[in-house]
Amino acid sequence: MRYISTRGQAPALNFEDVLLAGLASDGGLYVPESLPRFTLEEIASWAGLPYHELAFRVMRPFVAGCIADADFRRILEETYGVFAHKAVAPLTQLGANEWVLELFQGPTLAFKDFALQLLGRLLDHVLTRRGERVVIMGATSGDTGSAAIEGCKACDNVDIFIMHPHNRVSEVQRRQMTTILGDNIHNIAIEGNFDDCQEMVKASFADQGFLKGTRLVAVNSINWARIMAQIVYYFHAALQLGAPHRSLAFSVPTGNFGDIFAGYLARNMGLPVNQLIVATNRNDILHRFMSGNRYDKDTLHPSLSPSMDIMVSSNFERLLFDLHGRNGAVVAALMDAFKATGRLSVGDDRWTEARRLFDSLAVDDETTCATIAGVHGETGYLLDPHTAIGVRAARECRRNPALPMVILGTAHPVKFPEAAEKAGIAAVPQLPAHLADLFQREERCSVLPNDLKAVQAFVSLHGNRGKPL
Ligand SMILES: *Cc1c(COP(=O)(O)O)cnc(C)c1O
Repeated sequence: MRYISTRGQAPALNFEDVLLAGLASDGGLYVPESLPRFTLEEIASWAGLPYHELAFRVMRPFVAGCIADADFRRILEETYGVFAHKAVAPLTQLGANEWVLELFQGPTLAFKDFALQLLGRLLDHVLTRRGERVVIMGATSGDTGSAAIEGCKACDNVDIFIMHPHNRVSEVQRRQMTTILGDNIHNIAIEGNFDDCQEMVKASFADQGFLKGTRLVAVNSINWARIMAQIVYYFHAALQLGAPHRSLAFSVPTGNFGDIFAGYLARNMGLPVNQLIVATNRNDILHRFMSGNRYDKDTLHPSLSPSMDIMVSSNFERLLFDLHGRNGAVVAALMDAFKATGRLSVGDDRWTEARRLFDSLAVDDETTCATIAGVHGETGYLLDPHTAIGVRAARECRRNPALPMVILGTAHPVKFPEAAEKAGIAAVPQLPAHLADLFQREERCSVLPNDLKAVQAFVSLHGNRGKPL
């Protein structure tokens, strides 16, 4: 499988190089040159497979030529063996023909574990074979950082530096990062906000002299391997609900458009998906596009669903590429204009094409809390605020009540107790067994000023299993 850039100018790469690449050299994102397409008979034959084996069938074409089948099978078995629930991604019925796909049974209780547990193991495999070490730098406002650290903690060839804004992530989220101890794990609390952290990551990619030749790798959601891993659970859920003989709909709590883009790919690979709902919070740039063809940048509104607090959705460019006949020059022009003006619209025909599959809704904090309270009252089931937005959007945007509607449950409610409290729910959820002593564990974290040079000096001093590069 070869991968090409959405902006058409960067060289095509194989899976291994895409895994290590991050952004393409022309500023675009890598996508497969062509998608594998499965027949209905083939998909039907996968019913009842364990999660890791289904993952092998779905992802094998993407890694072919880079990872041997036996190695890939072993890596997948290990990856999904760490999930707390035997079903890995269990379905819970909420209402009539309405289901929550619980993607929060992994080590850090959010769906990002599905991709980052795999990413860490794939990196380790590839780097061991190449005899290389890499440094990962990432910025987090919460979920990504802990999932990335959990995913990479056992990687001998990776030193991971995760920056979070000092005193601006929840205590559970901070402890999920800082209590994982290891020579190769480095938590940095920056005296600044999330954007400051992200800017320092970007600046470090642009000028890598401080790394003294060590390769820098990105683990944010533009990394193709993350999208790839998320395709699998769409197949997994659909097979349990009667696909491929029956089609179904998904509602996806959305920020950077990575998770829902994986659903779009599943459909293009042959899964009968008849509707995808983009569920956003007040940071609704995607809803403005889907409802009125206006992808216009706004200011950031902090919300009760912080993992979806974004101004622009980095993976949206991958959809634009398909909507424009995979013409990289057109996408490059659109993205350049968006960078200059903060606004983007597409031709009517392209927009109509997008709307054949996608619907959307933006849900504010008040409605999020009302949904949490309503569902808890009806069924006793406690939703986290991100998933609640997905439920609300599913109920308002559903096209065909006769088809199963699957809401992606992106986080465990224990991660976001503030929303449950605001929804008036007294019984605060308990941490699951593997995290029960989280508040007693030793933390390790360095506080640094909001200063690029200080951060880069820290990385070069500790980037080789805690020793200087
Ligand atoms: C990251 C995240 C999202 C948003 O996913 P995208 O792929 O960025 O659209 C939604 N919910 C939770 C809990 C998350 O951590």
